[in-house]
Amino acid sequence: SKAWTLRQHFQGFPKASDFHLREETLPQPKNGQVLLEAVFLSVDPYMRPYSQTMMKEGDVMIGSQVAKVIQSYNPSFPVGCHVVSDCGWRSHWVCDGAELTPVLPDWPQDIPLSLALGAIGMPGLTALYGLEEVCEIKKGETLLVNAAAGAVGSVVGQIAKIKGCRVVGCAGTDTKVSYLKELGFDQVFNYKTATSLEESLREAAPHGYDCYFENVGGKFSSVVMPQMREYGRIAVCGSISMYNDTTPQTGPYVHTYMIFKQLRMEGFLCARWKNKHQQSLRRLMAWMTEGKLRCNEHITIGFNNMPAAFMGMLQGDNTGKAVVKVCLT
Ligand code: NDP
Repeated sequence: SKAWTLRQHFQGFPKASDFHLREETLPQPKNGQVLLEAVFLSVDPYMRPYSQTMMKEGDVMIGSQVAKVIQSYNPSFPVGCHVVSDCGWRSHWVCDGAELTPVLPDWPQDIPLSLALGAIGMPGLTALYGLEEVCEIKKGETLLVNAAAGAVGSVVGQIAKIKGCRVVGCAGTDTKVSYLKELGFDQVFNYKTATSLEESLREAAPHGYDCYFENVGGKFSSVVMPQMREYGRIAVCGSISMYNDTTPQTGPYVHTYMIFKQLRMEGFLCARWKNKHQQSLRRLMAWMTEGKLRCNEHITIGFNNMPAAFMGMLQGDNTGKAVVKVCLT
């Protein structure tokens, strides 16, 4: 079995030499345990800040995967079934069922299992909770989402459309902009080529934004705040523009807008609504089978390419969810 470890803490943007591929010998599974083989591995932005604060050098990189049970001494997880496991960047793992989530039991044949790491998994749930629980979005409202062509952002915009909202999205390439238009976003622009972020935001929604689904943070937030409408809600989901900073940014300087516009800004973690996960995954799957929710995937082939896939995602290579197809044989 193989595992990717953090050789050394990242200094700024991660480098290939910060990772180490190690061979592992796993114990034989015992009663109640299963042996897993990775099928798809997820690469997600949170791994960057998490590694800095929660991991020691030499630890296996954190992460989720869709795995197949290849040996089983646990009747709840028979050989051949697929599960979502949080065992990190590993090709194989021995564990008991307590750490595993089966993929939805009636998973349709024509829906790729990798979506259990994307739209029908943690990123999809994050989109749903951010909109419903944090933004409390209502029909007819205008929503802004950034990193809009990514795993979370693309689902955010589509759910908001399902709910009858006007959706503005921005992303870092023209290909992503076209993709978002295909998904039904009302206004989309490329934040990298826009001459003025402030002007592009104003043109896209001259009356301002009721809800802002924040994935990017930093300067972006400071520019959006003045364009929020009274009683606007800001779901602080992520701040990817700051994850590789070596010196912390200050700001945003937004107090007066927060007060006079009576805004509500709330950070959240998807796991807060754990007790709703199963029913929420069913709702996401229903939208998908009805054709209301679409999800592009950016698939990198090969377990050995995990670091490249992770770094690629951080620099915006992915349109849709970034995953690695393991292909061990
Ligand atoms: P994505 O699939 O959106 O991939 C990351 C994207 O971020 C890139 O494709 C890139 O797209 C964009 N990006 C990278 N650097 C910058 C930058 N400096 N400025 C603006 N955009 C940038 O990732 P996810 O959908 O998985 O995650 C999106 C956000 O949600 C992240 O901030 C993540 O940490 C957060 N998150 C939070 C969760 C929670 O529970 N709170 C759970 C899951 C995710 P582009 O080409 O557009 O620049």
